[in-house]
Amino acid sequence: MAQIIDGKALAATVRAEVATEVQQIKAQGGVVRFAAVLVGEDPASQIYVRNKQRACEKVGIEFELHTLPATCHFDELANLIRRLSADEKINGVLLQLPVPPTVVGDRLTELLNLIDPRKDVDGLTFTNLGRLADGADGLIPCTAQGILYAIHSVCPDLTGKNVVMIGRSRIVGRPTSLLLTNHHATVTVCHSRTRDLAACTRGADIIVVATGCAHLLKASMVKPGAIVIDVGINRLADGKLVGDVDFINVEKIATAITPVPGGIGPLTIAFLLKNIVVAYRRQHGC
Ligand code: NDP
Repeated sequence: MAQIIDGKALAATVRAEVATEVQQIKAQGGVVRFAAVLVGEDPASQIYVRNKQRACEKVGIEFELHTLPATCHFDELANLIRRLSADEKINGVLLQLPVPPTVVGDRLTELLNLIDPRKDVDGLTFTNLGRLADGADGLIPCTAQGILYAIHSVCPDLTGKNVVMIGRSRIVGRPTSLLLTNHHATVTVCHSRTRDLAACTRGADIIVVATGCAHLLKASMVKPGAIVIDVGINRLADGKLVGDVDFINVEKIATAITPVPGGIGPLTIAFLLKNIVVAYRRQHGC
């Protein structure tokens, strides 16, 4: 049976480190402040933002929520992001995704790039993604950092490991493949057009799945002893929350596996907090 990688416990460790750092900053008279922008009333997005607010408050980060209706104009949203980016009291700015298509159309990239890269705590601006691609210092997307942290908890050295990343999205798959490559893994990126997914995954020491397809990764696709990281969050018809991995069967042959819920989700929020403090420190040179 695989070791269960306890994302909640790992996240608690990261959050405790962040809380200590925030206390040190406060002791020097500093204030760490984060602004989230939410457009429309998507219930899932509202929950995600509320979770981020709670997490910030628990570690002493000041949280501001800026909401706009789903009927707002692109320019109104763009101006809000510009204003928050220019505000010296704010250290991190995040645009909660997805933004209603009626507001953003095909201009999401343009909008994300309005965030000052020094405050881009989601790491999605071209500047930060470019730095990651270059192996240079920047703000790295939170889920990718959470995935690396989870892997490191069971495999401290990625050098030469064969990793298969299933998914190539801007927010998860792509940055994760870059980050793991920077840590000397040999990374294969698979996606919906990959011809024989199982042939790729069977050779992998580590498989990371981020597709949004419930139970996509079956036991027959996993090499015995592999590490399996499940990023997916899928709500089944009966209301149950599951990942992208057929957990019950894969657990029997993997060496370590993340659960859903309680795996990468809590780590993603913990690394958002970490990024906010990193952003503060870089802005203040401390
Ligand atoms: P996207 O829909 O943006 O990307 C999904 C990726 O999976 C695409 O690259 C797609 O390929 C690929 N894909 C889809 N179906 C298949 C398939 N059958 N075989 C192989 N590849 C496939 O999703 P995200 O990356 O934003 O999110 C992925 C999942 O992770 C979701 O369930 C999301 O809820 C969850 N998530 C969890 C987070 C956490 O903190 N735990 C954070 C962010 C996301 P193609 O590019 O060809 O379309």
